Amino acid sequence: MRCPFCGNIDSQVKDSRPAEDHVAIRRRRFCPACGGRFTTYERVQLRDLVVVKTNGKREDFDRTKLERSIRMALQKRPIDPERVDQMISGIVRRLESLGETDIGSKIIGEIVMESLARIDTVAYVRFASVYKNFQAADDFDKFVSELRPTGNTEE
Ligand SMILES: [Zn+2]
Repeated sequence: MRCPFCGNIDSQVKDSRPAEDHVAIRRRRFCPACGGRFTTYERVQLRDLVVVKTNGKREDFDRTKLERSIRMALQKRPIDPERVDQMISGIVRRLESLGETDIGSKIIGEIVMESLARIDTVAYVRFASVYKNFQAADDFDKFVSELRPTGNTEE
């Protein structure tokens, strides 16, 4: 696994343990080149999903991007990270169980909003307000940057 800090491809696994009620394996990794530490998750992938944007463009579904937008909406909210992981896994399972490989970006946005509404109203409002302004969240990266709460930039 390539180190996200320095690009070295020989990172080492320091610790592996089940996560999310045994749905995932969480691995702590260490990069001997730069000393960086990072975490990876291994999960069953039932099918390869493709996101179809409103302009018709297709893109492989990327759980990391989905996660990023959700974590951004939940920033500084008192929600247990384990619960957030479970919610994200739940969203992915719902997408997988739609029975289609092609999924409209709009459907993903709606499922995310529904799930957020159930765990945190503030995060839901953050996500929904950006989502609605942003047509159909066509570009997740841009979407995420707009989700960044303004006037609250310390990280
Ligand atoms: Zn490194």
